[in-house]
Amino acid sequence: MMNSLSIPKVLQATLISGQYHESSAPSGRLPIQSGFWGEAMNEATDLMHVQQGVAAARAVDAAKIYGHGDAAVRALDGITVEFGSAKYTAIMGPSGSGKSTLLHCMAGLDRLSAGKVFIGDVDLSTLDEKKLTILRRDKVGFVFQAYNLVPTLTASENITLPIDIAGRKPDRSWFDTVIDTVGLRDRLTHRPSELSGGQQQRVAAARALVSRPEIVFADEPTGNLDSKASAELLEFMRKAVGEFGQTIVMVTHDPIAASYADRVVFLADGRVVDEMDAPTADRVLDRMKSLGGE
Ligand code: ADP
Repeated sequence: MMNSLSIPKVLQATLISGQYHESSAPSGRLPIQSGFWGEAMNEATDLMHVQQGVAAARAVDAAKIYGHGDAAVRALDGITVEFGSAKYTAIMGPSGSGKSTLLHCMAGLDRLSAGKVFIGDVDLSTLDEKKLTILRRDKVGFVFQAYNLVPTLTASENITLPIDIAGRKPDRSWFDTVIDTVGLRDRLTHRPSELSGGQQQRVAAARALVSRPEIVFADEPTGNLDSKASAELLEFMRKAVGEFGQTIVMVTHDPIAASYADRVVFLADGRVVDEMDAPTADRVLDRMKSLGGE
């Protein structure tokens, strides 16, 4: 059935892995716990990660150069940055500062010119294309600004598409949790054309989260949404981090969106120029003004 579908090219790159059929790699993360003791365990797990220095993803001296000679553009100019496990990080910076390039290289959708990026302890530069595709499929979720839903599939089918392509069975109780958290229960049989922009973006976010990837990258996920739909999606992602231990890295130009994150990393000219913990929209706006932001 999948062969007859027109799956957006960018999504194919993220999900489909040629001839490979590999079972899901163990994520190395403890199952998500809730309740008092669960919280305590989650904290203990976080602490273990911190103590062992395990970031969900990191870049080391990452450089990306587009073009050659006089026309060369240094989109990333030697970035070293870590994204902590079970944390929500926003990446901000003026247009052209390298935000999307960093996100794409971290997610294995593009290759660096020099330096390294790691997902967990896997150095992406050591992987050939097939292994990289498998890693993207099993460990990484990506939310695109343009949703990239398959128009002929229902919301439910779109959400389970990566799992279906991998030949795995969705974890029904987790699927239900994601659907209820994102508020899509009564829209599951609708096709994208029958959904609002906000609902389509929530389907795209649910698709990225339903396979419980180690990390979700989101490229301006609220860029096409009005403020109400934006707030709903951001609250959902905040919940995914706070309640379910998901790791999220989100590019945004919106200080309000950034205020949902635990930490903001500011880029300028392909470098990390500043960071802020526990951001508020006002503080982010001030910092962006001082950095000559948008
Ligand atoms: P941001 O997401 O912060 O707007 P980008 O990562 O898109 O920044 O771009 C960083 C720099 O790299 C910009 O100068 C941009 O013009 C350039 N760039 C991005 N993609 C390409 C490409 N495919 N070819 C050439 N230059 C590119």
